[in-house]
Amino acid sequence: MKRVTQGLTLLGATGSIGASTLDVVARHPDRLHVFALTAHKAADALLALCLRHAPRYAVLSGQAEDAGLRRRYADAGCRSELLFGARALEQVAADAECDVLMAAIVGAAGLAPTLAGARAGKRLLLANKEALVMAGPYFMRAVRERGATLLPIDSEHNAVFQCLPQESGKASVASVRRILLTASGGPFRAAPLDQLSRVTPDQACAHPNWVMGRKISVDSATMMNKGLEVIEARWLFDVAPERIEVVIHPQSIVHSLVEFADGSTIAQLSNPDMRVPIAHALGFPERIESGARPLDLAAIGQLTFEHPDLQRFPCLGLAYAALRAGGTAPAVLNAANEVAVAAFLDGKLRYTAIPQVIEHALERMPAAPADSLEAVLEADRAARAAAGDGVAALMGRAA
Ligand code: NAD
Ligand code: MG
Repeated sequence: MKRVTQGLTLLGATGSIGASTLDVVARHPDRLHVFALTAHKAADALLALCLRHAPRYAVLSGQAEDAGLRRRYADAGCRSELLFGARALEQVAADAECDVLMAAIVGAAGLAPTLAGARAGKRLLLANKEALVMAGPYFMRAVRERGATLLPIDSEHNAVFQCLPQESGKASVASVRRILLTASGGPFRAAPLDQLSRVTPDQACAHPNWVMGRKISVDSATMMNKGLEVIEARWLFDVAPERIEVVIHPQSIVHSLVEFADGSTIAQLSNPDMRVPIAHALGFPERIESGARPLDLAAIGQLTFEHPDLQRFPCLGLAYAALRAGGTAPAVLNAANEVAVAAFLDGKLRYTAIPQVIEHALERMPAAPADSLEAVLEADRAARAAAGDGVAALMGRAA
């Protein structure tokens, strides 16, 4: 009997996670078909993906209605229906024909469509960590109340999920003592501290082990990425912040570890290839082919671990502080980080000024309750303004 395939909506199809997802999906035509693909403005890249994967819908969320583009897609032989504007993201996320939603938009822009998928009770594959950082408790409530299935794509959280026992179809943390998130330490783990103020965007984006989008690459260099992941883990697994620790592991082979009450520690290992967690989540609870190279431990030889240095990585300390402050503080942290990273990538801000901009925004905006989406979005908006002032004050200034 022919199996009915599941429809996939892929938010952020033209990005790094988008490409890895489509690579895995193309290996499993008996399981999955592409229902909708979205991009922000990259019309040509999206058209190429539509010609290859023939989705029912293609969304350009950062473009207003454009008859010329519609014609260009049709003339190229694209049969997908083209939708414009951010609201179309929510439409394709919540559509009845979307069985699986991959949330792979970068940044705060991913929150509304990811939440729409949670509210529609989808099988939700979450790469967009910023959604959970901004609105963790609120987001998780929507997942619970609407019966959505949440599967982590971030490699560390996917690793933790794989290490946890499953009880009644859910990952259980009942016997967990600690979660240990691994971090590569990024390109500047061993660079002299007095040289950091001069690093360029290209140096910050040259990650030693992973190829990723530019924003998350800078976050990996500052270790804000790990800070965001601590907050993500706190809500995903409902574990207190004191029980989530970070350990630097430069080889990026052990993707995270869970320590249990009896002293056992379980880890998940693979080559650093996002197709592994993506295939895990697409196939779960079955295991399906990802295309990743098998692990050759003897060739790697050594796996090493060290404590993070908070003087080198102040963003990690800021993230823990925002998590402890609670309420809207993580949303402020996230928004200020996005503004600071964008300014750094634009050549307007020094690398070492990134944490200063974030600290300034956190100081200016004391934590308020984050009990509604409006409260979170308002904090996001105000934090962007505060961070913009911080960038203007620090622009060009020697650190
Ligand atoms: P990317 O920059 O390569 O791609 C981002 C995608 O989002 C693109 O398709 C882009 O068109 C779309 N997009 C950008 N701005 C948008 C906006 N304002 N509205 C709607 N769509 C928009 O990013 P990436 O590296 O693929 O990361 C995507 C998400 O996955 C991020 O949240 C990141 O933290 C997370 N993640 C990525 C990796 C990785 O290996 N790349 C690993 C773990 C988690
Ligand atoms: Mg990660």
